[in-house]
Amino acid sequence: MLNRRDFIKAGAALACAAALPARAADTAAHVVIIGGGVGGATAAKYLKLANPKLRVTVIEANRVYVRGYGSSEVVTGHATMADLNVSYDALHQRYGIHFIFDTVVGFDPDKRQVRTAGRQTIAYDKLIVSPGISLQYSAIPGYSAALAETRAPSGWIPGTQTALLAQQLKAMRQGGTFVLIAPPKPYRCPPGPYERAALVTEWMRKHNPTGKLVILDPKDDFVTDASMQLGWHRLYGYNIPADFMKGMPADVKNSGKPAPIEWVRARDGGTVSKIDPKSLTVTFAGGSIKADVLNVIPPMKAGKLAFDMGLVDASGWCPIERRTFASSLHPDVFVIGDASIADVMPKSGYSANNQAKITAFAVANLLAGRAPDEPKWKNVCYALAGSDYGLFVADVFRLKDNKIVQISGHRYMSLDATPTQIRLGAAYQQAWLKTFTEDCFA
Ligand SMILES: Cc1cc2nc3c(=O)[nH]c(=O)nc-3n(C[C@H](O)[C@H](O)[C@H](O)COP(=O)(O)OP(=O)(O)OC[C@H]3O[C@@H](n4cnc5c(N)ncnc54)[C@H](O)[C@@H]3O)c2cc1C
Repeated sequence: MLNRRDFIKAGAALACAAALPARAADTAAHVVIIGGGVGGATAAKYLKLANPKLRVTVIEANRVYVRGYGSSEVVTGHATMADLNVSYDALHQRYGIHFIFDTVVGFDPDKRQVRTAGRQTIAYDKLIVSPGISLQYSAIPGYSAALAETRAPSGWIPGTQTALLAQQLKAMRQGGTFVLIAPPKPYRCPPGPYERAALVTEWMRKHNPTGKLVILDPKDDFVTDASMQLGWHRLYGYNIPADFMKGMPADVKNSGKPAPIEWVRARDGGTVSKIDPKSLTVTFAGGSIKADVLNVIPPMKAGKLAFDMGLVDASGWCPIERRTFASSLHPDVFVIGDASIADVMPKSGYSANNQAKITAFAVANLLAGRAPDEPKWKNVCYALAGSDYGLFVADVFRLKDNKIVQISGHRYMSLDATPTQIRLGAAYQQAWLKTFTEDCFA
Protein backbone atom coordinates (compact mmCIF):
# COMPACT_ATOMS: atom_id res chain seq x y z
CA MET A 1 0.00 0.00 0.00
CA LEU A 2 1.25 3.49 -0.83
CA ASN A 3 1.69 6.04 1.93
CA ARG A 4 0.81 9.67 1.26
CA ARG A 5 4.34 10.70 0.21
CA ASP A 6 4.68 7.70 -2.10
CA PHE A 7 1.26 8.48 -3.50
CA ILE A 8 2.14 12.06 -4.35
CA LYS A 9 5.59 11.00 -5.64
CA ALA A 10 4.04 8.22 -7.74
CA GLY A 11 2.23 10.90 -9.67
CA ALA A 12 5.43 12.85 -10.19
CA ALA A 13 7.73 9.97 -11.14
CA LEU A 14 5.56 8.46 -13.83
CA ALA A 15 4.39 11.75 -15.19
CA CYS A 16 7.32 12.02 -17.62
CA ALA A 17 6.58 8.67 -19.22
CA ALA A 18 2.94 9.28 -19.92
CA ALA A 19 2.27 13.00 -19.64
CA LEU A 20 -0.32 14.46 -21.94
CA PRO A 21 0.83 17.28 -24.22
CA ALA A 22 0.75 20.64 -22.45
CA ARG A 23 -2.43 22.60 -23.04
CA ALA A 24 -2.09 25.05 -25.89
CA ALA A 25 -3.07 28.55 -24.90
CA ASP A 26 -6.03 28.67 -27.28
CA THR A 27 -7.70 25.36 -26.39
CA ALA A 28 -10.40 25.05 -23.76
CA ALA A 29 -9.34 24.51 -20.18
CA HIS A 30 -9.41 20.99 -18.79
CA VAL A 31 -11.25 20.39 -15.53
CA VAL A 32 -10.66 16.96 -14.01
CA ILE A 33 -13.00 15.60 -11.36
CA ILE A 34 -12.05 12.69 -9.13
CA GLY A 35 -15.04 10.76 -7.82
CA GLY A 36 -18.23 10.39 -9.84
CA GLY A 37 -20.55 10.26 -6.83
CA VAL A 38 -23.15 12.89 -6.02
CA GLY A 39 -20.67 15.77 -5.76
CA GLY A 40 -18.43 14.82 -8.67
CA ALA A 41 -21.20 13.92 -11.14
CA THR A 42 -23.10 17.14 -10.39
CA ALA A 43 -19.95 19.25 -10.73
CA ALA A 44 -19.22 17.70 -14.14
CA LYS A 45 -22.73 18.40 -15.44
CA TYR A 46 -22.90 21.97 -14.15
CA LEU A 47 -19.43 22.83 -15.45
CA LYS A 48 -20.67 21.87 -18.91
CA LEU A 49 -23.85 23.90 -18.38
CA ALA A 50 -21.76 26.88 -17.26
CA ASN A 51 -19.42 26.64 -20.25
CA PRO A 52 -19.96 23.87 -22.84
CA LYS A 53 -16.47 24.55 -24.25
CA LEU A 54 -14.70 23.33 -21.12
CA ARG A 55 -13.15 19.88 -21.36
CA VAL A 56 -14.46 17.92 -18.41
CA THR A 57 -13.11 14.51 -17.38
CA VAL A 58 -14.45 12.42 -14.50
CA ILE A 59 -12.18 9.74 -13.04
CA GLU A 60 -14.31 7.25 -11.14
CA ALA A 61 -13.35 3.88 -9.66
CA ASN A 62 -16.63 2.12 -10.59
CA ARG A 63 -18.59 1.94 -13.86
CA VAL A 64 -21.91 2.21 -12.04
CA TYR A 65 -22.66 4.48 -9.08
CA VAL A 66 -24.41 2.83 -6.12
CA ARG A 67 -26.38 5.56 -4.40
CA GLY A 68 -26.38 5.75 -0.60
CA TYR A 69 -29.47 7.93 -0.33
CA GLY A 70 -32.52 5.69 -0.17
CA SER A 71 -30.34 2.63 0.54
CA SER A 72 -31.98 1.85 3.92
CA GLU A 73 -35.07 0.98 1.89
CA VAL A 74 -33.13 -2.02 0.57
CA VAL A 75 -32.67 -3.26 4.14
CA THR A 76 -36.46 -3.47 4.53
CA GLY A 77 -37.21 -4.69 1.00
CA HIS A 78 -38.91 -1.49 -0.20
CA ALA A 79 -36.20 -1.22 -2.86
CA THR A 80 -33.75 -3.63 -4.45
CA MET A 81 -29.98 -3.35 -4.79
CA ALA A 82 -30.55 -2.83 -8.54
CA ASP A 83 -32.67 0.23 -7.72
CA LEU A 84 -29.56 1.85 -6.21
CA ASN A 85 -27.54 1.57 -9.43
CA VAL A 86 -27.09 4.77 -11.43
CA SER A 87 -25.57 4.88 -14.93
CA TYR A 88 -23.14 7.51 -16.23
CA ASP A 89 -24.37 7.18 -19.83
CA ALA A 90 -26.58 10.30 -19.79
CA LEU A 91 -23.77 12.55 -18.52
CA HIS A 92 -21.49 11.26 -21.28
CA GLN A 93 -24.05 11.36 -24.09
CA ARG A 94 -25.91 14.60 -23.28
CA TYR A 95 -23.06 16.80 -22.11
CA GLY A 96 -19.94 15.26 -23.70
CA ILE A 97 -18.33 14.59 -20.33
CA HIS A 98 -15.39 12.23 -20.66
CA PHE A 99 -15.22 9.31 -18.19
CA ILE A 100 -12.19 7.31 -17.13
CA PHE A 101 -13.19 4.30 -15.02
CA ASP A 102 -10.07 3.83 -12.96
CA THR A 103 -8.71 4.51 -9.47
CA VAL A 104 -6.53 7.54 -8.84
CA VAL A 105 -3.25 6.45 -7.23
CA GLY A 106 -0.87 9.37 -7.80
CA PHE A 107 -0.98 13.16 -7.60
CA ASP A 108 1.59 15.79 -8.59
CA PRO A 109 0.28 19.18 -7.50
CA ASP A 110 3.27 21.03 -9.02
CA LYS A 111 2.76 19.56 -12.48
CA ARG A 112 -1.02 19.54 -12.05
CA GLN A 113 -1.34 15.88 -12.94
CA VAL A 114 -3.01 12.81 -11.49
CA ARG A 115 -2.17 9.20 -12.21
CA THR A 116 -4.44 6.18 -12.21
CA ALA A 117 -3.93 2.52 -11.32
CA GLY A 118 -4.24 1.82 -15.06
CA ARG A 119 -1.11 3.98 -15.55
CA GLN A 120 -2.82 6.88 -17.25
CA THR A 121 -1.52 10.35 -16.40
CA ILE A 122 -4.06 13.11 -16.72
CA ALA A 123 -3.18 16.80 -16.68
CA TYR A 124 -5.62 19.37 -15.36
CA ASP A 125 -6.05 23.12 -15.16
CA LYS A 126 -8.42 22.79 -12.22
CA LEU A 127 -9.08 19.65 -10.19
CA ILE A 128 -12.31 18.98 -8.26
CA VAL A 129 -12.18 16.12 -5.74
CA SER A 130 -15.32 14.56 -4.23
CA PRO A 131 -14.06 11.32 -2.67
CA GLY A 132 -16.80 10.75 -0.07
CA ILE A 133 -16.04 9.19 3.30
CA SER A 134 -14.02 6.40 4.87
CA LEU A 135 -15.48 4.35 7.73
CA GLN A 136 -13.24 4.05 10.80
CA TYR A 137 -14.10 0.40 11.51
CA SER A 138 -11.36 -0.10 14.07
CA ALA A 139 -12.39 2.94 16.14
CA ILE A 140 -14.71 0.65 18.14
CA PRO A 141 -12.70 -2.09 19.88
CA GLY A 142 -13.78 -5.49 18.53
CA TYR A 143 -15.21 -4.08 15.30
CA SER A 144 -13.30 -4.40 12.01
CA ALA A 145 -13.75 -4.25 8.25
CA ALA A 146 -13.76 -8.07 8.26
CA LEU A 147 -16.63 -8.18 10.78
CA ALA A 148 -18.52 -5.57 8.75
CA GLU A 149 -18.22 -7.77 5.66
CA THR A 150 -19.51 -10.86 7.46
CA ARG A 151 -21.42 -10.75 10.76
CA ALA A 152 -22.06 -7.09 11.62
CA PRO A 153 -22.51 -5.00 8.47
CA SER A 154 -22.40 -1.24 8.37
CA GLY A 155 -23.75 -0.44 4.90
CA TRP A 156 -22.98 3.26 5.34
CA ILE A 157 -21.07 3.06 2.08
CA PRO A 158 -23.70 1.16 0.12
CA GLY A 159 -22.88 -2.17 -1.52
CA THR A 160 -22.59 -5.78 -0.39
CA GLN A 161 -22.98 -4.83 3.28
CA THR A 162 -26.38 -3.26 2.51
CA ALA A 163 -27.57 -6.53 0.94
CA LEU A 164 -26.10 -8.55 3.83
CA LEU A 165 -27.94 -6.44 6.41
CA ALA A 166 -31.22 -7.00 4.55
CA GLN A 167 -30.63 -10.79 4.59
CA GLN A 168 -29.77 -10.74 8.29
CA LEU A 169 -32.92 -8.81 9.18
CA LYS A 170 -35.08 -11.31 7.27
CA ALA A 171 -33.35 -14.25 8.93
CA MET A 172 -33.50 -12.80 12.46
CA ARG A 173 -35.21 -15.08 15.02
CA GLN A 174 -38.69 -14.07 16.19
CA GLY A 175 -38.37 -11.82 19.22
CA GLY A 176 -34.73 -11.04 18.38
CA THR A 177 -32.90 -7.78 19.03
CA PHE A 178 -31.60 -5.54 16.24
CA VAL A 179 -28.91 -3.25 17.67
CA LEU A 180 -27.95 -0.14 15.69
CA ILE A 181 -24.84 1.72 16.82
CA ALA A 182 -25.10 5.38 15.77
CA PRO A 183 -21.97 7.41 14.89
CA PRO A 184 -20.46 10.50 16.55
CA LYS A 185 -20.62 13.85 14.71
CA PRO A 186 -19.70 14.75 12.04
CA TYR A 187 -21.05 11.96 9.86
CA ARG A 188 -22.73 11.29 6.51
CA CYS A 189 -26.49 11.86 6.47
CA PRO A 190 -27.43 13.20 9.93
CA PRO A 191 -31.05 11.85 10.07
CA GLY A 192 -30.06 8.61 8.28
CA PRO A 193 -29.35 6.25 11.21
CA TYR A 194 -32.68 7.17 12.83
CA GLU A 195 -34.60 6.76 9.58
CA ARG A 196 -33.03 3.30 9.18
CA ALA A 197 -34.03 2.45 12.76
CA ALA A 198 -37.61 3.56 12.02
CA LEU A 199 -37.89 1.54 8.80
CA VAL A 200 -36.49 -1.59 10.46
CA THR A 201 -38.97 -1.18 13.35
CA GLU A 202 -41.83 -0.80 10.87
CA TRP A 203 -40.66 -3.94 9.08
CA MET A 204 -40.49 -5.88 12.36
CA ARG A 205 -44.04 -4.86 13.31
CA LYS A 206 -45.22 -6.78 10.24
CA HIS A 207 -42.78 -9.68 10.05
CA ASN A 208 -41.32 -10.09 13.52
CA PRO A 209 -43.84 -8.49 15.90
CA THR A 210 -41.99 -9.42 19.09
CA GLY A 211 -38.64 -8.18 17.74
CA LYS A 212 -37.02 -5.08 19.18
CA LEU A 213 -34.63 -2.39 17.94
CA VAL A 214 -32.18 -0.59 20.22
CA ILE A 215 -30.16 2.45 19.11
CA LEU A 216 -26.94 2.96 21.07
CA ASP A 217 -25.78 6.52 20.57
CA PRO A 218 -22.69 8.51 21.63
CA LYS A 219 -24.78 11.72 21.18
CA ASP A 220 -27.69 13.33 23.02
CA ASP A 221 -29.41 14.78 19.98
CA PHE A 222 -29.69 14.53 16.23
CA VAL A 223 -31.13 16.73 13.52
CA THR A 224 -34.93 16.17 13.23
CA ASP A 225 -34.84 14.47 16.66
CA ALA A 226 -38.16 15.90 17.91
CA SER A 227 -40.19 15.19 14.76
CA MET A 228 -38.60 11.74 14.33
CA GLN A 229 -39.42 10.76 17.91
CA LEU A 230 -42.97 12.03 17.47
CA GLY A 231 -43.28 9.70 14.47
CA TRP A 232 -41.85 6.76 16.46
CA HIS A 233 -44.32 7.53 19.24
CA ARG A 234 -47.33 7.59 16.95
CA LEU A 235 -46.35 4.59 14.88
CA TYR A 236 -44.62 2.30 17.37
CA GLY A 237 -45.62 3.51 20.87
CA TYR A 238 -42.13 4.89 21.56
CA ASN A 239 -41.82 6.71 24.90
CA ILE A 240 -40.54 10.26 24.32
CA PRO A 241 -37.99 11.42 26.95
CA ALA A 242 -39.26 14.20 29.24
CA ASP A 243 -36.80 16.79 27.88
CA PHE A 244 -38.24 16.33 24.37
CA MET A 245 -41.88 16.80 25.44
CA LYS A 246 -41.80 20.60 25.08
CA GLY A 247 -43.82 21.59 21.99
CA MET A 248 -45.27 18.11 21.44
CA PRO A 249 -48.98 18.04 20.48
CA ALA A 250 -51.42 17.76 23.41
CA ASP A 251 -52.44 14.18 22.51
CA VAL A 252 -48.89 12.84 23.03
CA LYS A 253 -48.91 10.69 26.17
CA ASN A 254 -46.23 8.11 26.90
CA SER A 255 -47.66 4.71 27.84
CA GLY A 256 -44.57 3.78 29.83
CA LYS A 257 -44.85 0.26 28.34
CA PRO A 258 -41.77 -1.20 26.62
CA ALA A 259 -41.76 -0.14 22.97
CA PRO A 260 -40.23 -1.98 20.00
CA ILE A 261 -37.81 0.92 19.47
CA GLU A 262 -35.54 2.35 22.11
CA TRP A 263 -33.01 5.20 21.81
CA VAL A 264 -30.22 5.06 24.42
CA ARG A 265 -28.55 8.47 24.34
CA ALA A 266 -25.06 9.32 25.65
CA ARG A 267 -26.55 10.77 28.84
CA ASP A 268 -28.41 7.48 29.39
CA GLY A 269 -25.25 5.44 28.82
CA GLY A 270 -25.49 4.88 25.05
CA THR A 271 -21.77 5.25 24.26
CA VAL A 272 -20.34 1.92 23.09
CA SER A 273 -16.94 0.83 24.44
CA LYS A 274 -16.53 -2.58 22.74
CA ILE A 275 -18.05 -5.33 20.65
CA ASP A 276 -17.46 -9.03 21.17
CA PRO A 277 -17.12 -10.25 17.57
CA LYS A 278 -18.01 -13.86 18.47
CA SER A 279 -21.22 -13.36 20.44
CA LEU A 280 -22.14 -9.92 19.02
CA THR A 281 -22.46 -8.66 22.57
CA VAL A 282 -22.10 -4.89 22.73
CA THR A 283 -20.74 -3.23 25.87
CA PHE A 284 -21.87 0.34 26.40
CA ALA A 285 -21.70 2.82 29.28
CA GLY A 286 -25.17 1.77 30.49
CA GLY A 287 -24.66 -2.04 30.33
CA SER A 288 -24.33 -4.72 27.70
CA ILE A 289 -26.65 -6.26 25.14
CA LYS A 290 -26.43 -9.30 22.89
CA ALA A 291 -27.49 -8.48 19.35
CA ASP A 292 -29.19 -10.90 16.98
CA VAL A 293 -28.49 -8.44 14.18
CA LEU A 294 -25.80 -5.80 14.69
CA ASN A 295 -25.65 -2.76 12.42
CA VAL A 296 -22.66 -0.56 13.21
CA ILE A 297 -22.35 2.92 11.75
CA PRO A 298 -18.79 3.69 12.83
CA PRO A 299 -17.03 7.07 13.12
CA MET A 300 -16.15 8.61 9.76
CA LYS A 301 -13.43 10.63 8.10
CA ALA A 302 -12.83 11.93 4.58
CA GLY A 303 -12.40 9.27 1.87
CA LYS A 304 -8.99 7.55 1.71
CA LEU A 305 -8.10 9.40 -1.48
CA ALA A 306 -8.21 12.72 0.38
CA PHE A 307 -5.63 11.40 2.86
CA ASP A 308 -3.43 10.04 0.07
CA MET A 309 -3.53 13.37 -1.77
CA GLY A 310 -2.62 15.35 1.35
CA LEU A 311 -5.94 17.21 1.37
CA VAL A 312 -6.92 16.57 5.02
CA ASP A 313 -5.95 18.35 8.22
CA ALA A 314 -5.65 16.93 11.75
CA SER A 315 -9.46 16.59 11.95
CA GLY A 316 -9.43 13.96 9.20
CA TRP A 317 -11.52 16.21 6.91
CA CYS A 318 -10.52 18.61 4.12
CA PRO A 319 -10.03 22.30 4.97
CA ILE A 320 -11.31 24.65 2.29
CA GLU A 321 -11.65 28.30 1.47
CA ARG A 322 -15.44 28.49 1.90
CA ARG A 323 -16.33 30.85 -0.97
CA THR A 324 -15.28 28.39 -3.70
CA PHE A 325 -14.40 25.21 -1.75
CA ALA A 326 -10.78 25.61 -2.96
CA SER A 327 -8.47 23.38 -0.91
CA SER A 328 -6.53 25.28 1.76
CA LEU A 329 -3.63 22.86 1.20
CA HIS A 330 -3.10 22.59 -2.59
CA PRO A 331 -3.63 25.25 -5.29
CA ASP A 332 -6.05 24.65 -8.18
CA VAL A 333 -7.73 21.83 -6.24
CA PHE A 334 -11.31 22.06 -4.91
CA VAL A 335 -12.84 19.61 -2.42
CA ILE A 336 -16.61 19.23 -2.26
CA GLY A 337 -19.14 16.87 -0.70
CA ASP A 338 -18.88 14.82 2.46
CA ALA A 339 -15.06 15.08 2.62
CA SER A 340 -15.00 18.87 2.95
CA ILE A 341 -15.13 20.95 6.14
CA ALA A 342 -18.30 22.92 5.42
CA ASP A 343 -19.08 24.09 8.97
CA VAL A 344 -22.82 23.81 9.69
CA MET A 345 -23.69 22.34 6.28
CA PRO A 346 -24.53 18.68 6.82
CA LYS A 347 -22.71 15.87 5.07
CA SER A 348 -25.62 14.99 2.81
CA GLY A 349 -26.21 14.26 -0.85
CA TYR A 350 -28.25 17.44 -1.14
CA SER A 351 -25.33 19.47 0.26
CA ALA A 352 -22.81 17.72 -2.01
CA ASN A 353 -25.00 18.47 -5.04
CA ASN A 354 -25.48 22.10 -4.05
CA GLN A 355 -21.80 22.66 -3.24
CA ALA A 356 -20.94 21.07 -6.61
CA LYS A 357 -23.10 23.55 -8.51
CA ILE A 358 -21.66 26.57 -6.73
CA THR A 359 -18.09 25.32 -7.10
CA ALA A 360 -18.66 24.44 -10.79
CA PHE A 361 -19.79 28.02 -11.53
CA ALA A 362 -16.93 29.42 -9.43
CA VAL A 363 -14.39 27.31 -11.37
CA ALA A 364 -15.92 28.32 -14.71
CA ASN A 365 -15.71 31.98 -13.65
CA LEU A 366 -12.10 31.67 -12.43
CA LEU A 367 -11.07 30.04 -15.71
CA ALA A 368 -12.72 32.90 -17.60
CA GLY A 369 -10.85 35.45 -15.47
CA ARG A 370 -13.97 36.51 -13.56
CA ALA A 371 -14.47 36.67 -9.80
CA PRO A 372 -16.72 33.95 -8.34
CA ASP A 373 -20.22 35.03 -7.33
CA GLU A 374 -21.23 35.54 -3.70
CA PRO A 375 -22.34 32.03 -2.69
CA LYS A 376 -25.53 30.89 -0.96
CA TRP A 377 -26.08 27.21 -0.34
CA LYS A 378 -29.09 25.16 0.70
CA ASN A 379 -29.90 21.73 2.04
CA VAL A 380 -33.10 19.74 2.44
CA CYS A 381 -33.01 16.32 4.07
CA TYR A 382 -36.21 14.29 3.91
CA ALA A 383 -36.51 11.37 6.29
CA LEU A 384 -39.09 8.71 7.03
CA ALA A 385 -40.37 7.65 10.45
CA GLY A 386 -42.43 5.05 8.54
CA SER A 387 -43.22 4.39 4.87
CA ASP A 388 -46.08 6.93 4.93
CA TYR A 389 -44.69 9.21 7.61
CA GLY A 390 -42.33 11.86 6.22
CA LEU A 391 -40.45 14.72 7.84
CA PHE A 392 -37.66 17.07 6.83
CA VAL A 393 -35.03 19.65 7.76
CA ALA A 394 -34.48 22.57 5.36
CA ASP A 395 -31.78 25.26 5.53
CA VAL A 396 -30.24 28.12 3.56
CA PHE A 397 -26.61 29.05 4.27
CA ARG A 398 -24.36 32.02 3.58
CA LEU A 399 -20.82 33.17 4.29
CA LYS A 400 -20.02 35.09 7.44
CA ASP A 401 -16.42 35.81 8.50
CA ASN A 402 -15.27 33.08 6.10
CA LYS A 403 -17.48 30.47 7.78
CA ILE A 404 -20.69 28.92 6.48
CA VAL A 405 -23.62 29.93 8.70
CA GLN A 406 -27.33 29.15 8.68
CA ILE A 407 -29.74 31.87 7.63
CA SER A 408 -32.21 31.49 10.44
CA GLY A 409 -35.74 30.39 9.71
CA HIS A 410 -38.19 27.58 10.29
CA ARG A 411 -36.15 24.41 9.76
CA TYR A 412 -38.32 21.39 10.52
CA MET A 413 -41.69 19.94 9.73
CA SER A 414 -43.95 21.37 12.45
CA LEU A 415 -44.76 19.12 15.36
CA ASP A 416 -48.43 20.02 14.75
CA ALA A 417 -48.30 19.01 11.05
CA THR A 418 -51.56 17.45 9.84
CA PRO A 419 -51.79 13.77 8.78
CA THR A 420 -52.00 14.97 5.17
CA GLN A 421 -48.81 17.02 5.51
CA ILE A 422 -47.07 14.02 7.06
CA ARG A 423 -48.19 11.72 4.22
CA LEU A 424 -47.12 14.36 1.71
CA GLY A 425 -43.71 14.49 3.42
CA ALA A 426 -43.28 10.79 2.62
CA ALA A 427 -44.48 11.31 -0.97
CA TYR A 428 -42.01 14.20 -1.41
CA GLN A 429 -39.20 11.98 -0.11
CA GLN A 430 -39.94 9.38 -2.79
CA ALA A 431 -40.25 12.06 -5.50
CA TRP A 432 -36.99 13.63 -4.32
CA LEU A 433 -35.08 10.34 -4.75
CA LYS A 434 -36.03 10.37 -8.44
CA THR A 435 -35.66 14.06 -9.29
CA PHE A 436 -32.46 14.41 -7.28
CA THR A 437 -30.83 11.48 -9.11
CA GLU A 438 -31.80 13.11 -12.40
CA ASP A 439 -30.33 16.44 -11.30
CA CYS A 440 -26.99 14.79 -10.47
CA PHE A 441 -26.67 12.14 -13.18
CA ALA A 442 -28.87 13.04 -16.19
C1 LIG B 1 -28.25 5.08 4.30
C2 LIG B 1 -28.00 6.43 3.70
C3 LIG B 1 -29.07 7.29 3.47
C4 LIG B 1 -28.83 8.56 2.94
N1 LIG B 1 -29.90 9.37 2.71
C5 LIG B 1 -29.70 10.62 2.23
C6 LIG B 1 -30.80 11.48 2.00
O1 LIG B 1 -31.96 11.12 2.22
N2 LIG B 1 -30.55 12.73 1.55
C7 LIG B 1 -29.29 13.16 1.28
O2 LIG B 1 -29.13 14.31 0.85
N3 LIG B 1 -28.21 12.36 1.48
C8 LIG B 1 -28.39 11.11 1.94
N4 LIG B 1 -27.31 10.27 2.14
C9 LIG B 1 -25.92 10.81 2.01
C10 LIG B 1 -25.37 10.87 0.57
O3 LIG B 1 -25.42 9.60 -0.03
C11 LIG B 1 -23.93 11.37 0.62
O4 LIG B 1 -23.87 12.53 1.42
C12 LIG B 1 -23.40 11.70 -0.79
O5 LIG B 1 -23.31 10.53 -1.54
C13 LIG B 1 -22.04 12.40 -0.70
O6 LIG B 1 -21.54 12.64 -2.00
P1 LIG B 1 -19.95 12.66 -2.27
O7 LIG B 1 -19.78 13.06 -3.69
O8 LIG B 1 -19.30 13.42 -1.20
O9 LIG B 1 -19.50 11.14 -2.05
P2 LIG B 1 -19.97 9.80 -2.85
O10 LIG B 1 -21.35 9.97 -3.41
O11 LIG B 1 -19.73 8.67 -1.90
O12 LIG B 1 -18.96 9.71 -4.06
C14 LIG B 1 -17.59 9.43 -3.90
C15 LIG B 1 -17.09 8.78 -5.20
O13 LIG B 1 -15.68 8.84 -5.25
C16 LIG B 1 -15.20 7.65 -5.85
N5 LIG B 1 -13.78 7.49 -5.46
C17 LIG B 1 -13.27 7.46 -4.22
N6 LIG B 1 -11.95 7.30 -4.27
C18 LIG B 1 -11.59 7.24 -5.58
C19 LIG B 1 -10.34 7.09 -6.28
N7 LIG B 1 -9.16 6.93 -5.64
N8 LIG B 1 -10.35 7.08 -7.63
C20 LIG B 1 -11.53 7.21 -8.31
N9 LIG B 1 -12.75 7.34 -7.70
C21 LIG B 1 -12.76 7.36 -6.34
C22 LIG B 1 -16.12 6.58 -5.28
O14 LIG B 1 -16.13 5.40 -6.06
C23 LIG B 1 -17.48 7.31 -5.29
O15 LIG B 1 -18.20 7.06 -6.47
C24 LIG B 1 -27.50 8.98 2.64
C25 LIG B 1 -26.43 8.09 2.84
C26 LIG B 1 -26.66 6.83 3.37
C27 LIG B 1 -25.51 5.88 3.57
